[in-house]
Amino acid sequence: MSSDTHLHIENISKKFNTVDALRDVDLRIERGSFVCLLGPSGCGKTTLLRIIAGFETATKGRLILDGQDISQQPPHKRGFGMVFQSLALFPHMSVARNIGYGLKLRGVKGAAQRDRIEELLEVIQLPHIADRPVSALSGGQRQRVAIARALAIQPPLFLLDEPLSALDAKLRDNMQIELRQLQQKFGVTTVLVTHDQHEAMMLADELVVLKDGAVRQSAAPSQVYNQPADSFVADFLGAANLIDVGAIKGGTVDLFGTAVSTPAPHMDGDLMLAAVRAEHLGLAPAAAAGTAAPIGAVSFMRDLGPATEFVVTIQGKDLRVRRSNADAQGLDVGSQVALTFDPAQVSLFKAA
Ligand code: ATP
Repeated sequence: MSSDTHLHIENISKKFNTVDALRDVDLRIERGSFVCLLGPSGCGKTTLLRIIAGFETATKGRLILDGQDISQQPPHKRGFGMVFQSLALFPHMSVARNIGYGLKLRGVKGAAQRDRIEELLEVIQLPHIADRPVSALSGGQRQRVAIARALAIQPPLFLLDEPLSALDAKLRDNMQIELRQLQQKFGVTTVLVTHDQHEAMMLADELVVLKDGAVRQSAAPSQVYNQPADSFVADFLGAANLIDVGAIKGGTVDLFGTAVSTPAPHMDGDLMLAAVRAEHLGLAPAAAAGTAAPIGAVSFMRDLGPATEFVVTIQGKDLRVRRSNADAQGLDVGSQVALTFDPAQVSLFKAA
């Protein structure tokens, strides 16, 4: 075990009757890191979090916390801080009593309890509403109270299951920043479940992408984004264009007339899929482009505010292109455009 592994999820599998909810998940979570479990509905992320929390037992594998096997420990012995989508606050209790709840259960009383509650109220910037019942708070305030309550007990691990999914988009954006700042302030090792790729990119030090119970990729968000391990990851994180490019020849494939080479050990004759992100495709006026340039037609255009989203139909294929609004000047549905891209920003995968 490396010295900074806090939790080793060691080859965990979970079967529910005939369903393989998790398959040989092996992850090392670094001390103080923020890990996001990301994947579509049913990929097993909640099951993995529940196994970490102790609410569910793995069919196979172990959980090693600080070198100790905790697989058989009940949840209360693990003492992890938890926040779920439902928050599970006591609505009629005051903010302060909610935050102090876990402390009380652990026998932290009197001045020690008061000091800790005050400290947390400061951190979540709600000292002025300590005595208000939770039922009288806004969604964002409730969220902060739930986080403070979970962190009050100084848990070894902080576990969150879709904690922000009930909030509206703007509040959710703000809470993501707050959550990340709080996690860094406390330095607590954190595992968060989400199906929202933007949220995961925003929060994670380490992004774990799951599909059908298996880890497809586990790496820093920028690495997962720029070097996706497979076409599923490429597509799930930021909607890549997936293009059949036929068989590989001499280590390269042809993408709209440009040779794209692959460093991976693929064999000549392997059928390949190219993935290229909407923001990595450029558009130039067709008239100014060379004769070899791939020419298509704009079939859809939408001003997103900070950028413009296009669909360009080229050689019978619809590609999504995202450009700055300046690049959209003079273009309209029906415009003929040349497609540009940097082959270094194209990922190649063996077609399934
Ligand atoms: P969602 O985002 O929809 O919550 P998820 O990625 O968290 O999905 P899980 O809830 O972990 O997925 O479920 C993984 C698989 O295990 C699914 O096929 C689910 O139906 C199944 N499953 C989960 N819990 C149980 C259970 N208690 N009994 C039987 N099957 C279960």
